Amino acid sequence: MANPLHDALFAPLAERDRPLMHLPDGGVLSGRAFHGLCAQAAGALRAAGLEAGDRVVVQAEKCPGMLAVYGGAVMAGVVFLPLNTAYTPGEVEYFLADSGAKLLIADPARADALAPVAARCGALLETLAPDGTGSFDARAAARPKGFAPAPRAPDDLAALLYTSGTTGRSKGAMLTHRNLLSNAEVLADLWRFTADDVLLHALPVFHTHGLFVATNITLLAGGSMIFLPGFDRDAVIAALPQATAMMGVPTFYTRLLDDPRLSRALVAHMRLFVSGSAPLLAETHAAWEARTGHRILERYGMTETSMIASNPHDGDRRPGTVGFPLPGVELRITDPAGGAVLPAGETGMIEVRGPNVFCGYWQMPEKTAQEFRADGFFITGDLGRIDEDGYLGIVGRQKDLIITGGYNVYPKEIELLLDAAPGVRESAVIGVPHPDFGEAVLGLLVAEPGAAPDTAAIAASLRNRIARFKQPKALLLIDTLPRNSMGKVQKNELRKRFAGAFAPPQPASTG
Ligand code: AMP
Repeated sequence: MANPLHDALFAPLAERDRPLMHLPDGGVLSGRAFHGLCAQAAGALRAAGLEAGDRVVVQAEKCPGMLAVYGGAVMAGVVFLPLNTAYTPGEVEYFLADSGAKLLIADPARADALAPVAARCGALLETLAPDGTGSFDARAAARPKGFAPAPRAPDDLAALLYTSGTTGRSKGAMLTHRNLLSNAEVLADLWRFTADDVLLHALPVFHTHGLFVATNITLLAGGSMIFLPGFDRDAVIAALPQATAMMGVPTFYTRLLDDPRLSRALVAHMRLFVSGSAPLLAETHAAWEARTGHRILERYGMTETSMIASNPHDGDRRPGTVGFPLPGVELRITDPAGGAVLPAGETGMIEVRGPNVFCGYWQMPEKTAQEFRADGFFITGDLGRIDEDGYLGIVGRQKDLIITGGYNVYPKEIELLLDAAPGVRESAVIGVPHPDFGEAVLGLLVAEPGAAPDTAAIAASLRNRIARFKQPKALLLIDTLPRNSMGKVQKNELRKRFAGAFAPPQPASTG
């Protein structure tokens, strides 16, 4: 009986003695050895009482054993639900309760804090450690290295990935075998992955980028990975000469550019650098090309849809764009208000349809219905524009759109101007409450190291370039932009922090 993800990604490993993972301690795990770990994890999931369709929540450090739980879940037909390691026990409780998972696998260091959480949710708690000393590790080690995969249909769930949920409740995106496999097939082909590829893997494996894009493509192509526990600049620099490809978030690239060891010679063996999960500044793209001779390939996707668009492997990779819709993915730009399809060149809501698009939010039929059109297009919540050559540009999230005095301001347009100003390293433009305008545009600037940007001169330079309503009512210098683990700027945090920037003065106390 078939199990689409197992058959395409994991089954071939059983016959493979070549390396699959190169580990930081110099160890190497062959495909066959990793397949054995997956089968043992599948056996341990079954022994813990999980049947096909049940959920397992995993909040553990990145290590081969953690990835083997993904493989084991696929084999056992169990739905894999990985969590950001930064989540607090209170947050874990929400995911555990919401998903109704029967088993929580956590780092041993968190076992005490999570035991009451698991008990309240009626879930078993097991631990998993990079050195193999967790209770789940022990249970898995006692299982056979073979497992008859559970039959699964293409539309059966493989994973439940919760969105980062900066507003409201975090939602569980239901991803099927078809969703994940179709995306891996398209990307492996588009980005020319082969069995000769060695992927430098420094991304977390609780997020679609490191878990599905990076891992599934490598498995499908029969390549191998340098599997690092996280992004450590020295470790990445040491590994680059052995790798052929790297997938990263934009901060990987800016941090490497800050290091004098980054040179053409260091990356001579590389064939591809991919960036995504947050916008890559055109300036970073240019600086990377000047230093290394490589043009970064930027792509765009989200938890709910896996990857949607990509710059070409062979054609022109255009900075500031995310390229073209992937083969098999339909994309249109619509009027955010009424939903009418807009002509090319206009900015609006990005909507997508295709085998990559998830099948809904876990136990939220109303939320799901709101975010899909009747014809099956998913409303991404991102605003974008397709240029005359068909390249898609992301303008930002709709919720970041600023409405000031009734006019729409797209933060990205202003950020691009601010980023290019003298002494400015990067910027974020947000809307904050304003007594007259409803919202006012506020520009936050981070200086280049050692520079002191002249905010008055920058404000003056914008005057003739953009309409008055778009000009920030104030420009403030801040030390850094708050980012999450995927490099996304946390505008919510900035909005909270600067909410009072234009508040009317409080009446003096008469007390
Ligand atoms: P997540 O679901 O955490 O993967 O976040 C998805 C969101 O990240 C998208 O909806 C976009 O807003 C943003 N994103 C992903 N890739 C890019 C990119 N290349 N450029 C700009 N924004 C991106």
